[in-house]
Amino acid sequence: MAAKLDVNWDDVIEDVEFLLSWNESAWTISKRLGITIRTLERKMLLMGRPDLAHPFGRAKVDTAKKVPCRDCTTPVLKGSRRCHDCASRFRAAWGDDAYALEDEALALGMTMLELTRSYRQAS
Ligand SMILES: [Zn+2]
Repeated sequence: MAAKLDVNWDDVIEDVEFLLSWNESAWTISKRLGITIRTLERKMLLMGRPDLAHPFGRAKVDTAKKVPCRDCTTPVLKGSRRCHDCASRFRAAWGDDAYALEDEALALGMTMLELTRSYRQAS
């Protein structure tokens, strides 16, 4: 069997332990190590570290209930469009009507910039 990843799992365990001790999320750890959450969970279990597998197991369940943030792809609850940070930035950039504007733009197949420009021309 050809190994897809040439990974030293003892090193990975050390990294995971370290990052978890800094309260990094399972998502961040997965991204930083370039290893999927599912693989990390399985490997930690196989290596006899259910304590380290747990955060990834929880994240996996969460993923099923989540959708990617429209701006940065961080998982957010279904029904939400953006993570907290991106939502703040979005509202700061587009104002209180940001979401209504986005809905309209999506419905018309326009970007928000095109839509606001067409408003300005119409008035
Ligand atoms: Zn985001």
